[in-house]
Amino acid sequence: MIDKEKIKRAIRLFLEGIGEDPDREGLKETPDRIARMWEEFERLRSFDMKLFEEFGNYNEMVLVKDIRFYSFCEHHLLPFFGKVHIAYIPNEVICGLSKLARTVRSFALRPQVQERLTEEIADFLERELKPKGVGVVIEAEHLCMSMRGVMSPGHITTTSALRGVFLEDIKTREEFLKLIQFPR
Ligand code: ZN
Repeated sequence: MIDKEKIKRAIRLFLEGIGEDPDREGLKETPDRIARMWEEFERLRSFDMKLFEEFGNYNEMVLVKDIRFYSFCEHHLLPFFGKVHIAYIPNEVICGLSKLARTVRSFALRPQVQERLTEEIADFLERELKPKGVGVVIEAEHLCMSMRGVMSPGHITTTSALRGVFLEDIKTREEFLKLIQFPR
């Protein structure tokens, strides 16, 4: 649950801490804006995972490429962002394709690390869809690496999580990686 008053107090203190005047024109609404933004993130995280009975006997790969996402690295609270590719092989049920994008957003809009985000999406889909297998690949740029530290703007960090047949069957895995054209 979001505690807006706590966020407002903290942002005000933070601004003082970096030597800013939190009462100056441009900053005075900032604590409230940030509190409302996190409230919005909390709303965006929840969704209904509606499942459909599989019609016919579709047991080929379902793949959604290039799902854009924005998240926050939990070490610096700076954004990391990029693309998620998700594939699964259904087992009796499928979900609406938009639900995959919502799943991504639900796990992305919180302090995260890319590795855990990848695993959480794969685990969630495995649990909800009980598919024959699921594969998740994330490619992202981390602003904490681009703006500071090693300063490497434009770098891409890639992570993957494979479950079921994507792990066990080399042909399935290769088909998935070929379809998302990875490695490039
Ligand atoms: Zn970071």
